[in-house]
Amino acid sequence: MLYTCSKCKINSGVFKRSYSGETLCKSCFLLSIENKTLHTISKYSMIGYGERIAVGVSGGKDSLTLLSILKKILKKNNSNDIIAITVDEGIENYRDESILIVKNHCDAINIPLKIFSYHDLFGTSMDEAMFQRPSKKLSSCSICGTFRRRALDIAAKSVSADVVATAHNLDDHIQTFMINLFSGDVDRIGWMYPTPIEYDTGLKKIKPFLELYENEIVFYAFHSGIEFQAEQCPYMNESIRSDFRKFFNELEKAHPGIKYNCYNAVNKLSKMIQNSRPTSPLYLKKVCSKCGNMCNNEVCSVCKTIFLLETK
Ligand SMILES: [Zn+2]
Ligand SMILES: [Zn+2]
Repeated sequence: MLYTCSKCKINSGVFKRSYSGETLCKSCFLLSIENKTLHTISKYSMIGYGERIAVGVSGGKDSLTLLSILKKILKKNNSNDIIAITVDEGIENYRDESILIVKNHCDAINIPLKIFSYHDLFGTSMDEAMFQRPSKKLSSCSICGTFRRRALDIAAKSVSADVVATAHNLDDHIQTFMINLFSGDVDRIGWMYPTPIEYDTGLKKIKPFLELYENEIVFYAFHSGIEFQAEQCPYMNESIRSDFRKFFNELEKAHPGIKYNCYNAVNKLSKMIQNSRPTSPLYLKKVCSKCGNMCNNEVCSVCKTIFLLETK
């Protein structure tokens, strides 16, 4: 049984925020999520006046909610164009359904949508890549993540965006930290600080949901009537991410607020690692000898992955 809303003190509460002890009614809850998003955007200077924003939309709850909230909170100053970009990985049944959901959502809130496919961009789909890969050591999520980052870059460029927004939330952030930690990739922890990553081209990558718990986004989507794809990616269980997700959810149940503490610690560590480097850790100084994109090595991770898939 929930009590009266801690904010308005009028309506009955529908959501208990365990880590803060607040109970919120529907409208105070929805408003709190919009305000938190706006707060994250201004805290890390994510969006500037007049910047054109491409939002990566997958059809899941997080990205559809991000699109709706950005449309709502940015409408007030009316200076930012928003366009949705969707990446079609080529996963039969799963992706076809979500593209339809994205199209309907974009139509409903009047935002233009552009779709980019792995097949057109890289000559292979995820379903094909799963057959082509040399061994299971090359996980589905690592292939997909590598292609997705490049696909979003290409998509953003092709719609002349200044900013690419993705819906990574606090849970994703601390899972990524654990993945980097357990794979010994300390450099990558140095890239995790929430300020936008900026490319030479001027393109900024931002994560406005970074300070929101995943369960709050689900609750927002549900209560604001956003229809999303509930089915999870069929290749998801290959990911160590799912194990960390379960781990953190169990911890949070026993110790409310522990995810948020971890989030703060991750950012402090990230900053310390950044500061310990002689140059900015956001360097991408070399140029891929195959495709000409900026990267950290002689050949970029996309070209390396395509090579592995082609030479099985
Ligand atoms: Zn209220
Ligand atoms: Zn390359």
